[in-house]
Amino acid sequence: MNRENNSVSRGNILIIDDEPNNLRVLLNCLTDNGYDVRGVLTGEMGLKAALSEPPDLVLLDIMMPQMDGYQVGNHFKNIAELRDIPIIFVSAKYDTLDKVKAFRVGGVDYIMKPFQIEEVLARIENHLRLRRLQDELEEQNLLLQAEISQRQAAELALQEQNAQLQLEIRERERAEAELAKLNEDLARSNSELAQFVSIASHDLRSPLTTVKGYGQLFKMRHAQSLEAEGQRYINRILDGCDRMLNLIDDLLQYSRLGKAGEQFSPVRSAEAIEEACQNLSLEITTNQAQIICRDLPVVMADFSQLRQLFQNLIGNAIKYRGEANPLVEVTAINETDHCLFAVKDNGIGIAPESFPKIFQMFKRLHGPSEYPGTGIGLAICQKIVQLHGGRIWVESAPGQGSIFYFSIPVLSADIPPLLVKNLVTQ
Ligand code: ADP
Repeated sequence: MNRENNSVSRGNILIIDDEPNNLRVLLNCLTDNGYDVRGVLTGEMGLKAALSEPPDLVLLDIMMPQMDGYQVGNHFKNIAELRDIPIIFVSAKYDTLDKVKAFRVGGVDYIMKPFQIEEVLARIENHLRLRRLQDELEEQNLLLQAEISQRQAAELALQEQNAQLQLEIRERERAEAELAKLNEDLARSNSELAQFVSIASHDLRSPLTTVKGYGQLFKMRHAQSLEAEGQRYINRILDGCDRMLNLIDDLLQYSRLGKAGEQFSPVRSAEAIEEACQNLSLEITTNQAQIICRDLPVVMADFSQLRQLFQNLIGNAIKYRGEANPLVEVTAINETDHCLFAVKDNGIGIAPESFPKIFQMFKRLHGPSEYPGTGIGLAICQKIVQLHGGRIWVESAPGQGSIFYFSIPVLSADIPPLLVKNLVTQ
């Protein structure tokens, strides 16, 4: 009885009517109009057909033997799968149609026999459309419900994340407060330590100067009367005094560094180098060293600290010389927010594994008999650079010379760099 063509069906319709003529007329007419149609002659068969494949709409005759249309409608209403299928009751003109009863058992409409086929088609189409809209609405409702549940879940997750975040923020604030307190404690103990070093060094200096003074006096007056061994001893005592005095001086210098640093002003780096070279004139002359400076800018710095920095680096470049006469080149490059200085030498060089050590206090790669020193010079350099907000590092290899780099941030953009070309000091 189903329509046999391949076009898309306009709907699946079940007709339940005990009059074969009526059934045929409706069946043919609806099939011709593009519906999938099944027809049965009794209510019982109708229920079976509907259960095996629920239709989109039922045309249900009222006056039928055994089970009338109302009873069939009632069954439809009581079966979950069939409850929502729209039923259009078909009634003969002379039947007394009980509309209230019909609507109560799930009827959505009714048509009168004999049929006005256009009316039948219009009513069917109308209810199928209503049904489709209802289905769509239900689908949208389901989607909406799903979206609401998703949103609620997301909101819940967000609330949980928020709570976690709050916890983290509190934890971080607590850690920050702790850090600030630790920093404060550290700054206090640093300043106490610096004070201690300063006082201790100062107090050590005067008895040591006395020992050295009397040692020199003793050597001057009694050297001739001493045997070789005695002379060696007095020389060792005087050497030891010198080393200790140097150590005290370096320690004093290091401990004093922390106190200054904030009074930066425009400094001609060439002038700082010139003064450093004057202080190193003895070493420069003795070693026949050549110091070459190129393109040296004005930087915001503490003049005496910058001078000290160059003095330590150039002094080391001469001290750790190789076979050739020392050649030291000082250059600078202006980068966006800082000035990068390089102090290059042709000395003995440093093995890369020693790079991290050499900036530490008292760390030396050589014994005092090889090269004099206290192991504080580069620690002072590092502290000076750090006080200026910069960084210091070395590039070197044994026998290849060394380049010490350090950066000094450009603190004021208003000061034009003053370039001092090819200043050569000897
Ligand atoms: P000091 O020179 O008093 O030993 P520094 O802190 O100035 O102390 O230097 C630490 C060590 O780094 C030195 O003992 C030396 O071995 C090495 N060093 C520093 N500068 C140079 C250099 N220009 N060339 C080779 N080695 C160097």
